[in-house]
Amino acid sequence: MLIDVHTHTPQYKDPVPADEMVIQDLWRPDRPVAATFSWDDYFQAQQPAQKSIVFGIAWHPGQMTDNISGQGAGDTSWYSGNVNDATATFVRAHPDRLLGFMSVHPYDADCMDEIERGRVDLGLRGIKLGANYQNFDPMETRALAIYEQAQKHGLPIMFHQGTSPVRNAPIRLAYPLLMDEIAMRYPDLKIIMAHMGHPWQVETCVVIRKHPNVYADISATFYRPFSFWEQLVKANEWNVMGKLLFGTDYPVSTVAETVDKLRNVNAIVEGTHLPRVPEDRIEAMLARDSLGLLGLA
Ligand SMILES: [Zn+2]
Repeated sequence: MLIDVHTHTPQYKDPVPADEMVIQDLWRPDRPVAATFSWDDYFQAQQPAQKSIVFGIAWHPGQMTDNISGQGAGDTSWYSGNVNDATATFVRAHPDRLLGFMSVHPYDADCMDEIERGRVDLGLRGIKLGANYQNFDPMETRALAIYEQAQKHGLPIMFHQGTSPVRNAPIRLAYPLLMDEIAMRYPDLKIIMAHMGHPWQVETCVVIRKHPNVYADISATFYRPFSFWEQLVKANEWNVMGKLLFGTDYPVSTVAETVDKLRNVNAIVEGTHLPRVPEDRIEAMLARDSLGLLGLA
């Protein structure tokens, strides 16, 4: 079963009106990305995945969000309030295909109540945090309270890791070595480090190698072909290929193109003596029971 562990909640249920389309040119070097998208757009791009984890990001206390790039979703967007309600509505309409994570903000006075509401009332199964986007110190007390609660209730946390083109998102708050300290404090907490921590993929490899409950996803990394090949060669050398989870970061990339680029990762070294990423380990990643590993099966 192909599982995509990293996708974003559509801002629109119906087709995006032409005047509310937001095209991002900087997100990928090889093609523009439509940052506003509908339920239909989502499922089209998700083929052939059978299950996908989907979430928004609580940019501000109160779980308020504009959209994934923070630039405002437009007037006819089908949600404008709490991002967790939007995710839950989407997931409830497609329970066979989707599994939802909530997002919370540690500066929200009701943060702990929102985790309970997300878990119990909305049926959300994990938490998405992006300390850089949300602008909090991942080691501060209010953030630790979230990890504590997540560990207690078996809610995996996906952390955005590494760089981002969003100008107001401090990169240092998403530095992968911080995850090592969180994992030492909360050894039973399941953590997914997004994007292999790009461009600090080796830092990510050494963290996931140490901690049995810490994984990394490979989402949104293939369109830098040299780094993509290199990060997988290094993951193999560090013997952590088994800790890598398939993901797309949709809308940034689609399932089909990510699968294709994974299967062709060695094309860049064809005709050279440079090391290859073992094909059987790529196939194992595509077949991986990520939900089982995260305790969500
Ligand atoms: Zn993402």
